[in-house]
Amino acid sequence: MTLPTDPAANLATLIRCASVTPAEGGALSALETMLKPLGFLVERPVFSEDGTPDIENLYARRSGNGPHLMFAGHTDVVPVGDEAAWTHPPFAAEIANGEMYGRGAVDMKGGIACFIAAVARHVEANGGPKGSVSLLITGDEEGPAINGTVKLLEWAASRGEKWDASIVGEPTNPDVLGDMIKIGRRGSMSGAVTVNGRQGHAAYPQLADNPVRGLMSLVDALLHPVFDKGTKDFQPTNLEITSIDVGNPATNVIPAKAVAVFNIRFNDTWTAETLQAEIHNRLDQAAGRKKYRPGKKTPVDYDLVWRDRPSHVFLTRDDRLVETLAGSIKSAVGKEPTLSTSGGTSDARFIKDYCPVVEFGLVGKTMHMVDERVAIADLETLTRIYQRFVEDWFGQG
Ligand SMILES: [Zn+2]
Repeated sequence: MTLPTDPAANLATLIRCASVTPAEGGALSALETMLKPLGFLVERPVFSEDGTPDIENLYARRSGNGPHLMFAGHTDVVPVGDEAAWTHPPFAAEIANGEMYGRGAVDMKGGIACFIAAVARHVEANGGPKGSVSLLITGDEEGPAINGTVKLLEWAASRGEKWDASIVGEPTNPDVLGDMIKIGRRGSMSGAVTVNGRQGHAAYPQLADNPVRGLMSLVDALLHPVFDKGTKDFQPTNLEITSIDVGNPATNVIPAKAVAVFNIRFNDTWTAETLQAEIHNRLDQAAGRKKYRPGKKTPVDYDLVWRDRPSHVFLTRDDRLVETLAGSIKSAVGKEPTLSTSGGTSDARFIKDYCPVVEFGLVGKTMHMVDERVAIADLETLTRIYQRFVEDWFGQG
């Protein structure tokens, strides 16, 4: 039986599965076909929740006597956008000028294709890792992310699965393979501030209470002063007002309500709890200011509602994991990767509750774009990096 040692062949198979979230599209079946000959036990649990589509996921484990490494990723992809704008069709895996085109080429079927090729080469060359390797693959990363990684981790953990380290194969490199390992992420929270005023005639403001005036003080307090200047490992905390809504079609009416929505990306100066307290405090103080509401006796009447659950900030401090991966990258491409916590959230924020986690995959430049594509040479290099990492992490290098 031929083993899936060729990352380009693995990737072509995966790209040809049109697995736009929430469709499985044959992608998990294709993975199962690749993994079984390598000695993996493959399971494909389906998770459901009211109001969201059922999602099929995959957990595969190759058991051994030793530590347990988990590779995490997703086979679902974002929609293709304007299909006519693609130079090569999005689900054909055509190669031109040394690049393979297709939705998911870098985000992140390519990363999965390389990891499987790396394990396959390791199995072929020296019988495979001494410990256990598992793949935790969701079909719901690009969608609502409700029936994916969180439930898959809980499901596996409830069956006694324990991991010593995890690598997420998302595209982490801004320009060139080897640029960047992500070793943590800022936290993220969103909230909505509603100011309750009193509707009235624009010519008689003394009889009304314009909520826009109150909201201006509150928004000002959210934006100034800055929350912090950043830390050794993280960018500064950043709050963005993402929407201000009044919904008032009349120019001569003072509205009754005004709402501002914001998102805040925060570093390890804060926890979600201390930052929420800081924001409540800022708003309470600003509510008493008279700058935009001269003559009003009462403070601004407002409510703050936090939306969803916060994503917590995290930083991976497992030196062996980070240094082993950095060393594999250096030996393959000859340079030291930057250890970064930049960018948005990823599934690593869920995995970090179970084991130390880092992220390293392909070059992200074309992800989510028309003409998403990957250099065949990069697939080969990433496979060598993953193989070296697996060998070194299991102490077989
Ligand atoms: Zn992704």
